[in-house]
Amino acid sequence: MLRQIIQESKVKAVRELLGRSERIVITCHMSPDGDAIGSSLGLMHVLAAIGKEARVVTPDIPPQILRFLPGAKDIVPYSKYTDFARQLLCDADLIFCLDFNSLYRVDHMRDDLASSSAPKVLVDHHQDPEDFADVIISHPDQSSTAILMFRLLCRLELFNLIDRKAAMCIYTGMMTDTGNFSYNSNDPDLYVVIAELIRKGINKDDIYKRVMDTKTVSTLRLNGYAVGTKMQIFPEHKAALITLTQKELDDYDYQKGDTEGLVNVPLAIPEVTYSVFLRDDKRYIKVSSRSKGDFPVNKLCEKYFNGGGHVNAAGGEFEGTLDEAVEVFMSSLAENDRYLHD
Ligand code: 5GP
Ligand code: MN
Repeated sequence: MLRQIIQESKVKAVRELLGRSERIVITCHMSPDGDAIGSSLGLMHVLAAIGKEARVVTPDIPPQILRFLPGAKDIVPYSKYTDFARQLLCDADLIFCLDFNSLYRVDHMRDDLASSSAPKVLVDHHQDPEDFADVIISHPDQSSTAILMFRLLCRLELFNLIDRKAAMCIYTGMMTDTGNFSYNSNDPDLYVVIAELIRKGINKDDIYKRVMDTKTVSTLRLNGYAVGTKMQIFPEHKAALITLTQKELDDYDYQKGDTEGLVNVPLAIPEVTYSVFLRDDKRYIKVSSRSKGDFPVNKLCEKYFNGGGHVNAAGGEFEGTLDEAVEVFMSSLAENDRYLHD
């Protein structure tokens, strides 16, 4: 049995909204990851099973690696099909916002999402959600939005309608947001849910191979170069830094998602407590950070990189050059020492 964590009043509110909605849009954060796409598609399959017209609209194009997920081909990326996506948001009578806590996280889609008159249900596991949704189901103690979605579907008495396709999507979200159950993964409920998903017919080993263990030659070379040549360690501050310039990314034919997981690599070194990865994204410098224990990288990203996130996984967008971002990082090192323990 799963512990019940979602308040009954919220389950009731979602049930009522679902009862009077036909056209439902499900959306998630920009640069969607396995959790954003997995929880969105999982919900889409179940809503389709109860006869709703449900569409997933993402702010930008989902990564290639997730295209095998059932329903992924029907996703409408706002960046590519702006007019159609805008129409869907405008015509919707209910919108689910999954895996983000601030309208800022949907990038260019923000105004169209905010201005839609459809009621909004937020299902998310990031801290301090903004108050933009009518129903806010926010559980930062949950390791993924996908498991939260599974819990919500169970509470809505839709467990029986989670088929193999929906189960694949939900599992993918749970797996990617825990690094294949290697962090944030001590909650026994996770394994109760996995058992149920396997009973629904998923092949978890196959999903792992497709999502975590499939790379192109240039991706492997880019990551090898980043660790071999670009990784800097600051032992006195227990910190690691990796930077990649536009030229370096171009040289390795960088595609979105190619550096997924790279920021985790330096944490394998016992002396490293936190790791920062700076990637020149043309529009800004994309910041990604990870840590061990209670070192709060979300504080680091909030203060220096215009971002936020979780204690052990956070990110941001730095307005400026890569060199300036490196300077900011270097100047933050001494101050970050206060979060270190011996
Ligand atoms: P990643 O490093 O995988 O891009 O992001 C890790 C986590 O950091 C995300 O789950 C999200 O919580 C947070 N995050 C990443 N980028 C941003 C950002 O630009 N702004 C904010 N507020 N959070 C971010
Ligand atoms: Mn997530």
